[in-house]
Amino acid sequence: MTAGKRWIPETLFDDLGFRITYAVERVLYEMQTEHQHLVLFEHGFFGKVLMLDGATQVTSKDEFIYHEMMTHVPILAHGNAREVLIVGGGDCGIAEEVLKHKTVRRLTQVEIDASVVEFSKEHFPEFTGPVLSDRRFDLVIDDGMNYVTKTDRRFDVIIVDSTDPQGPGKVLFSERFYRACRRCMNAGGVMVTQNGVPILQSDELVTGIRKFRKLFADGACYVAAIPTYVGGHMAMGWASDNPKLRALAVATIAGRYKRAGSFPTKYWTPEVHVAAFALPRFIADKVARASKRSR
Ligand code: SAM
Repeated sequence: MTAGKRWIPETLFDDLGFRITYAVERVLYEMQTEHQHLVLFEHGFFGKVLMLDGATQVTSKDEFIYHEMMTHVPILAHGNAREVLIVGGGDCGIAEEVLKHKTVRRLTQVEIDASVVEFSKEHFPEFTGPVLSDRRFDLVIDDGMNYVTKTDRRFDVIIVDSTDPQGPGKVLFSERFYRACRRCMNAGGVMVTQNGVPILQSDELVTGIRKFRKLFADGACYVAAIPTYVGGHMAMGWASDNPKLRALAVATIAGRYKRAGSFPTKYWTPEVHVAAFALPRFIADKVARASKRSR
């Protein structure tokens, strides 16, 4: 079955002496872009797998979990999101979910690497097709750090769909970046970030929330289990000035979902939305630790 196949490892956790490796059916695209190493391959079970600098970004099999939870949670918690910003998100999977909300007036996406968008047009048409044909979508090729520092646009929801804190993605985990995001948020705004897998990337979560709490009245996270982001729960960082936004009732979220068009989902539901903020004890303890040093 796998004899003679090329195996591609995820090397994100080499410092922990831990790798997962995929038996490759076919490499569809591989290049060293100006910013990072990019490989897209076919896997027998997970379908298309995109890796950037040795870190799994998206797989056909389970992309819906991360894409739904990184979009519907902040947008429906906000309740009146008109202007949305995505930083990163080159495969356009997040953009596709945002644009399902007919209440969203404009979606700006700032992606540093045009190659990721270009090849996604061919290999992830299920994302790029509906997105690139939607007149509300505005793609900017730039470093997200530059953009949030200079833009005069203001946003209700900011989604940081970045790579991990290595290479070009590193700056997207800095206090300087979060401060600049805060600068271009409207009152009542919400920011969510890709904050890694707490059991393997503990510091990423604690330092991220600590930075949020320096800049916003409320810094926290919510969780979802995404099989190919190995290590159990993945934490999505959460920053806003209204703690109530992450403690809304199922009925409130369900009502907003109805108004947004009750589009089909495969993971997110109003109940899952609310439950995602109920943290396993070891993650809640990490979040509590984040506030100790910031006083
Ligand atoms: N869902 C994936 C995850 O959780 O790891 C992330 C998906 S998406 C492919 C990540 C995107 O972030 C990539 O397209 C990468 O080029 C982009 N990116 C990395 N650093 C960036 C920066 N400084 N500014 C804008 N985009 C950046």
